Amino acid sequence: MNLLLYGAPGSGKGTQATRLGDHFGIPHIATGDMLRAEIQAGTPLGLEAQPILAAGQYVSDEIMIGIVRNRLRRPDCKPGFIMDGFPRTVPQAEALDGLMRELGKAFDRVVYLRVDIDELLRRLSGRLVCPACQRTYPPSTTACAVDKSLLVQREDDKPEAVRPRIEIYLEKTVPVLDHYRGARLVSEIDGQGTMEEIYQHVLTAVTQPAATRKQSA
Ligand code: ADP
Repeated sequence: MNLLLYGAPGSGKGTQATRLGDHFGIPHIATGDMLRAEIQAGTPLGLEAQPILAAGQYVSDEIMIGIVRNRLRRPDCKPGFIMDGFPRTVPQAEALDGLMRELGKAFDRVVYLRVDIDELLRRLSGRLVCPACQRTYPPSTTACAVDKSLLVQREDDKPEAVRPRIEIYLEKTVPVLDHYRGARLVSEIDGQGTMEEIYQHVLTAVTQPAATRKQSA
């Protein structure tokens, strides 16, 4: 099962992708997490990416395509994978089409988690994250419910970076959805509700037989 999770920053992609990955026993490929790992390790890529992430901007298509190419070639992706955070631009989507063809793979479904802009701004401002497992929590939580690590604020969740992230999403990433709508692969899911409700909708969208699947407009 090859799945692509699409949505704005703060739409809940990461949370849903982690659960889906556990459910299907396939890797969750989150390009944002991969970049943050490079930053933490102080690699040359991390040093280059750090100020870009902090400002809420996008790392270049060339770098991102290279990262994803290497990741998808790893053997753990053979049974399937869940892509989260890529492609974020139309050139990335076109490169991914080519890469999938080269590898003899195709996406089974693109899940679009739809959330209003006002709700996104509210969720991102002040949310906290576990530095160990990347789970996110609402403001004023202190420790991760799973591994007890003390929560921190992601640098790009600080107010000065939140708006640029939404703006670049609207400009560069919204057109990516049309790329997949053309291929009739998109299931649109209301991303406002409890995590459990949303998860059940996502699971239904990815597991129901193609013939009975309701296509989004
Ligand atoms: P979110 O979706 O909440 O913004 P992510 O963890 O997916 O968070 O990404 C964090 C940051 O990493 C992005 O704002 C961007 O700077 C960088 N990034 C991640 N994926 C990509 C990508 N495919 N292209 C360009 N930049 C990316």
